[in-house]
Amino acid sequence: MNTNLMLIGGERIAGNGGSRDVFNPTTGQVFASISEASKAQVDDAVSAARAAQPHWAAMAPLERAAIMHRISALISENAEELARIVVQEQGKPINEARGEVAGAAGFFSYYAEFARRIQGEILPSDARGEQIWIQRVPVGVVAAIIPWNYPAALVSRKVAPSMIAGNTIVLKPHEETPLSALYMGKLFMDAGVPAGVINIVTGAGAEIGEALTSHADVDLITMTGSVPTGKRIMATAANNLVPVSLELGGKAPFIVMDDCDIDLAVRSAVTSRYMNCGQVCICNERTLVHERVYDQFVEKFVAASRALRLGDPLSEQTDLGPKVSQRELEKVERIVEAAIKEGAEPLLQGGRPETPPVKGGYWMTPTVLTGVKPSMAIMQDEIFGPVVPVMRVESFDEALSVANDSRYGLSAYLFTNDFAKIMRAVNDINFGEVYINRVGPESLQGFHNGYRNSGLGGDDGIHGLEAFLRKKTVYANYSGTSPVALMPYAE
Ligand code: NAD
Repeated sequence: MNTNLMLIGGERIAGNGGSRDVFNPTTGQVFASISEASKAQVDDAVSAARAAQPHWAAMAPLERAAIMHRISALISENAEELARIVVQEQGKPINEARGEVAGAAGFFSYYAEFARRIQGEILPSDARGEQIWIQRVPVGVVAAIIPWNYPAALVSRKVAPSMIAGNTIVLKPHEETPLSALYMGKLFMDAGVPAGVINIVTGAGAEIGEALTSHADVDLITMTGSVPTGKRIMATAANNLVPVSLELGGKAPFIVMDDCDIDLAVRSAVTSRYMNCGQVCICNERTLVHERVYDQFVEKFVAASRALRLGDPLSEQTDLGPKVSQRELEKVERIVEAAIKEGAEPLLQGGRPETPPVKGGYWMTPTVLTGVKPSMAIMQDEIFGPVVPVMRVESFDEALSVANDSRYGLSAYLFTNDFAKIMRAVNDINFGEVYINRVGPESLQGFHNGYRNSGLGGDDGIHGLEAFLRKKTVYANYSGTSPVALMPYAE
C-alpha cells in the first residue's frame, strides 16, 4: 500500500495539485515523491470534516477514547518504522526520533483519559425553579498547520485534543516533511477512525496552508511554526473571525549561576542547544553565565560541544545529525557571519565540515560565540541551529534583565540551588515556561505557551485542551412560570 497518500473523508487520495520531491537531509538526495492537494481538495477535506463532526461529537467520550487508545497502540507497534521515516525526512538522530514517536503515541493515550474529565459547571439561578449550567462543547472543524521540526509528535499534539473534544480536523504538515503525517494517516485508518474525523492534506504554505486557514467553514485554527507565518495566519483568520492558537518561535535564555552544579549545567546546556541540531523552539538560544563560573563553564561547554559526534542520524552513535534543509543551513551560516561582523568572537568556529559524514548532506558542526551584547541580532533573533552565544553576567539581576530583553517569551532555563533566586526567577522571568535545573522537553500535562511574539494560546494539558472546546450556557426553567417579566400578550 502506498502510504504517501493524503487522507480525505476516510479515503487515501492522491493530490491533484502536482507533485513534490522529499529530500533526505543526510544525503541531500530525493528519497520520495508525493502528490499535493489542489485547493478543491482542501474544500473536500473541510466538507468531509464538517459532515463527520456531529456524529463524532455524539459518540460517548469513552467510545472516542477507545479509538484514541488504539491509535496510541498502533503508533507504538509501528514506532521503529515511523521513527525511521522521521529521520529520513527530517534528519534528527534515531534515538531522538524514537523519543518523538513515543511522544506521538503518548498524546493519544493522555488525551483519551479526558473522556471522563471534560466537565461543566452548575450555577445558582436568580429565580426559583431554574437551573443554569455551563457545558463544554466541541468547537467543530479544526484546521491544523504544523512545521518540520517534529513531523510526527506535532501531528498528535493537534489531533489528539481535537478528537477527545469531539471535533474533526484537517491537518497540513510542512511541505518538506509530509511523510510522517501521511504514514500516521494509515495508522488512523487502521485504528478505525470514522471517515472525515481526521483529514490530512499536503502542499505549500502559501497556497494550501492559506486555502485551509482562510476557509470560511473552519471554527478554529491551531498552528505551530514561525512568527511571520503566525502573523499571516492571524490576519487571514480575522476575515472570518476564527479563533487562532499559535505556537511560534523562541529565544530561550539559559541562566547559569555560580552556586549551581556546573557539570549538570554544562550537560544540560549542550543537550538543550544541540538536540535536533538546534531546531527546537525551546532550545537554549542565549547562555548567560555568572562571571565567577564563566571561565570554568565555557571551557567545559566548548569541550563538550567539540566532542559531539556528527554523523548519520540512523546510527545510534550519532549526537548531531544534519540540518533539515540547505535553506536552513544557509540561514544559520548567515546569522553566524553577521554576528562575527557585529563583534562576536568564535571560541569554537563550526560550520560545514571538511569531511562530511555522508556526502551531500546539510551538515553543520557547533559554533560557540562569546563577546556578545544583548542588543546584537544573535541575541535577539531565533537561530534554530547548532550555534550559541555565551554571555558573561555580573549578577543575577543582570541575567534576569538580559533574559527578559526579548520579543520572544516561550521557555527559559535557570541553574541554581539558591531558593531565593529560584523564586525570583519564577516571579520575574517573563516567559510562559520556566525550567529550573533541568532541560525540556515539556510534559503532556503542562501548558506549552509563549508570551509576546512566541504565540497566543498554547498546547498540552487541560489548558491546551480548552482551545478545542467552547462553552455553552443553558438556562433551564422548570418552574411552570416565567422567571422574568413578559411583555403583554394580546389575544
Ligand atoms: P513556517 O512558519 O515556515 O511553517 C510552518 C507551517 O506553516 C508549514 O506547514 C507551512 O507550510 C505553513 N505555512 C506557511 N505559510 C503559510 C500561510 N501563508 N498560511 C498558512 N500556512 C502557512 O515554520 P517552520 O520553518 O516550519 O518551523 C520553524 C518554526 O517553528 C520556528 O520558528 C520554531 O521556533 C517554530 N516552532 C514552534 C514550536 C512551539 O511549540 N512554539 C514548536 C516547533 C516549532
